[in-house]
Order: sequence, then C-alpha cells, then structure tokens
Amino acid sequence: MTNPPVITRFAPSPTGHLHIGGARTALFCWAFARRHGGHFVLRIEDTDAARSSDESARGIMEDLVWLGIEWDEGPEFTTPDGRKIGGDPRGVGPFFQARRVDLYNSHLERLVRAGLAYPAFEGSEELEARRKAVFAAKGTYRYERPADVTPGVFNEARWARALAGETHVVRLVSPMTAVVVDDQVLGEKTFPADHVDDFVIRKADGLPTYHFAVVVDDETMGITHVLRAQEHFNNTPRHIVLQRALGFRTPVYGHMPLIFNMDGTKMGKRDKAKAARAAAKTLLQKSPDLNAELLAAGIGQEPAVVEQFLAAENDSMEVAAAIAAKLGIALPEVEVSDFRANGYLPGAIDNFVSLLGWNPGMKAADGKDLEKFDTAFLAGHFDMARIGRTNAKFDRAKLLSFDGDAIAAMSDEEFARAWRAWCSEYEPALPAGLDGPRWTLLARAVKPRAKTMRDGVKAAGFAMLTDAGVTYDPAAVEKNLRAKDGEGLGLLREFHGALQQARDWEPQALNAMVEAFAKERGVGMGAIAQPIRVALAGTGVSPPLGETMGVLGRESTLARISRCLAVHAA
Ligand code: GLU
Repeated sequence: MTNPPVITRFAPSPTGHLHIGGARTALFCWAFARRHGGHFVLRIEDTDAARSSDESARGIMEDLVWLGIEWDEGPEFTTPDGRKIGGDPRGVGPFFQARRVDLYNSHLERLVRAGLAYPAFEGSEELEARRKAVFAAKGTYRYERPADVTPGVFNEARWARALAGETHVVRLVSPMTAVVVDDQVLGEKTFPADHVDDFVIRKADGLPTYHFAVVVDDETMGITHVLRAQEHFNNTPRHIVLQRALGFRTPVYGHMPLIFNMDGTKMGKRDKAKAARAAAKTLLQKSPDLNAELLAAGIGQEPAVVEQFLAAENDSMEVAAAIAAKLGIALPEVEVSDFRANGYLPGAIDNFVSLLGWNPGMKAADGKDLEKFDTAFLAGHFDMARIGRTNAKFDRAKLLSFDGDAIAAMSDEEFARAWRAWCSEYEPALPAGLDGPRWTLLARAVKPRAKTMRDGVKAAGFAMLTDAGVTYDPAAVEKNLRAKDGEGLGLLREFHGALQQARDWEPQALNAMVEAFAKERGVGMGAIAQPIRVALAGTGVSPPLGETMGVLGRESTLARISRCLAVHAA
C-alpha cells in the first residue's frame, strides 16, 4: 500500500486512564487525518516498564472507541458492536513500543558506530551529586560530555564495555547548535545551542527513552503530522536533533494549548485529590472528635499516607477515592472514564473537547458562533490554523449544558435505549426490575429532568425501592401529610379508594384522574399530588405522577399508598 498523504498518530503512554486532554489530542489527530483523506495511527508508548500496563492500554482503547475515535492502523481491537478495527495495512507495526526494541537498537547502534552516540557509565548517584553542585552554584545543569568522546568518531572502548555487560545508558552526541522549531500553532521558536545536551536515548534497562522511541517510530511509521500537547514543545528540539542524526525527516508539528480549570489552575488528576482534601479538612475542622488517624481507620487507609495526603505531600488517588466514598461526595471528573461513569454522552464530550483551543470560525443560524457540531462536521472542517495559542478553559457548566442539550435532542426511544445500556453498566439495580414497557415509561418521565444519564438515576430513585423499602423524609411527611390536621393523609386515603377503581392504568389517564380528584374536592393539584409522591417515593420529588404510577404498576402503587397510610395513621 502506498502512503496516504497525511498520517497522524495518537501515542498515549498506558500508565493510567485516558485523560480528557489526551482525548482532545486523539480527536484532533483523527479529524486532521479524516479531513485530508489520510490515516490515523494509534501507538502505545509502553517503554516505561514499571508504570505501563496492558490493562491501561485496553482502557484507553475502550475510551477512544466509546468516543467514536477509531484508528485506521494500530492494535487490533473488537468494538462493542463486534467490528474489528486497527491492523497494519502498511506493515509498519507492531504498535506497542515494547515490541519494537530490536528496531530501536538497530538505529541506536548505527548512531554509536557513526560516533553520534555513546555509552555512558556514570551511576545515578554520581550524576545527582554533579547536578546538586551545579544547582548550589545557581547554574543550569547540563551533562558534560566525557573527554574521551569525540563527535563523529566511534568510541570502540566504550562500546566494548557496554557489550561486556557493564551497566550503562546510551547518550546522543548533541551538535550543540541552535534549533528552530516551526510550529503550526505556536509559530517559529529558536532554542539556544545549549537547550539540547547529550541526553539519554537508551536507559540502563535497555529500553529506549521516550525521545528516541518517538523519533524512530514517527519516521518508520511515516507520520507526517504530529499534533500533541504543549507539554512536549520543549522536547521538540531534542526530536529534531535526533532526526538529523538519524537521517530522518522532520514531521510537521503542532502543539496544542494547555487545559486549565476555570480558577486558572492546570486541569489534571490532582484536582480530584484537591477536592477530597478540602472536603476531609472541612470535616476535621467541624468534628473535634475526629483526627487524621481516625479518618484513616474509617476509610481503611494507612494513617501516615492519610496524614501526608492532608498535608498535600501526596496526591494518592486511592485516598482521594476512599474519602469521596466515605463522605458521599463526587470528585471532579478528569478522565474520560469519569465522564463516562457519570453518564455523559460521547457526542457531547467530543463536541465540548473540540472547542478546547479550536473553533470552526463559523456562525450558526442564530448569528452566534457555531459551537454545536458532531464529529462528522469536525472531520470536514478541522484545520491546524484555527488552533489557538492561549490556554483553553474547561468550563464544566458548559459541558453539562451541552450534555443536557444532547439528551434533549434524543428521541424518547433513543434515550430509553442509551440509558438502559448505560445503567446496565453503571447502575444495574435500576433496570433489573423493570420490564420493557415500564422502562420506556420511566425513561420518558426522567428524560426532561436529566442533564446526564446519572441525573436520570436520581430522578428514578423511587423505581429502585421495594414497596416496603420506601423511607419517608420527615420534613416531607410533616408538610404534605400531617399539616393542617392531617389534611394530606385524609386526601390520600380517599384517593386510594378512588384509585382502586381505576380501569385504565396508563399515565395520561392516571394524571387526568389526579386532576379530576383535586377538582372534585376543591383543592389545588399540589394538595393531593404531594401526598401521593410522599407515599410512592418517600419525598415530595418524583417525575409526573401518571408516569410514576405507570412505572410502579397498579399493585405497587396501591401497596405503597396503603403502607404509607398505615405507617402515618397515628
Ligand atoms: N507518550 C507521550 C505522552 O503520552 C506522547 C508524546 C507524543 O505525542 O509525542 O505524553
């Protein structure tokens, strides 16, 4: 197969979940390839053996597929709907760096023999001591090339020591010249001659460093355009220097703006730790009997780790999650799996993420900036020229409103299907007890109240209770049943009698019945609707009554009202 005109790649390190920033990188790379009739490659950068895992690689792929970002080349993957994606049509794989070590070594040896790289034998302690000495003198540390290394001359003695098994790393002979990076987003920047020193290209464990692997892979996979996060901009001169040493091409680079929270801090996993820490500290302040040690015991974590966590000396995700679970608080979503578990729709995430540092520069029908679009639109319109240089703001309220709009735009049937699929993964107790027609009814009732799938679950809480398991909110009981000498209870008792005669157990008819009942008794709708809600859901909040009774069915509805009357009869 000949090379497509444009080949982009997303190259995640499988050291955790897919971050929302990674999703943006992947989406833009995908869209750019689509726009130009090119290929989008997925490459797994797993050379950090200690931190990488197959499980994370798999999770990242699942999240990408969930977002609809499918790769043309890369690890083979079967989508949930049974399609096989990925593969190696051009024969440039494998796509896991850990399986490409021979290739890296052959290029590395080429450099060593040309006198452009050399083994170095200093131990990490020695280097650390040198670094500290330079810092103490307020200097900028640069690795100093050993006196016996001459650029362009193969250092056979060092290579022989390396081959004999002596612990070593391999370093590049840096040309020590200024490097100009012509970035599609950030413009042209000249890095000074000392920006790139003799950096490590192969680690002591025999695996290439990120810099080396990325350069070899981008070349051998024919990558034409590298779009990645701005964190990597300062690495680019190293990559260019390596490409020149290896005789490789330099792809087109575009570095995307950082993603910030609305409060101006950088968005990241740490936000979860911050939120959990703040909640735990408030609790400790409010509860004189509680201390860090007791808290640690309560959440099943090591006291020392919890103390450090509270002092912001670590950001343990485990501690953060344990605190959140204990206190019943939600931590901010940062990774794609967080948004997924909280019931966001992939289309809304794609749309929102597309606007983090990019916009189509078009007007919508209402004259405002066009902001709502799908991935097909993005694939037709994405360009690098419109990627901004300024930091992108992650506006959660906007994302929530995008998601709510996306739910509102679904048909009742679509929502019922999507919500059932989501629930079966994240809230299996909800759909378990409901047959098809009742599920459809429930979905229709909660849809107008749901900005996310999880919101829908909150609104559907009544459907998850057993008839004998309804717990009554005391304030709601007081207000809706007992007030005014138990007016609510009286009306509820009468309504129970009327309801037993109901012939047509269907939302519209049931709603009409409640209305007619209120009219006949000369009371407002709320006077009877609220007591019914308390009886059915335990609180004064539930979807419209007709739907609520429809979902519960005749038997449960009547049983719940009887029980409520009995419990509060005194
Ligand atoms: N593996 C790198 C990361 O996850 C990707 C760097 C690149 O795109 O060059 O940050």
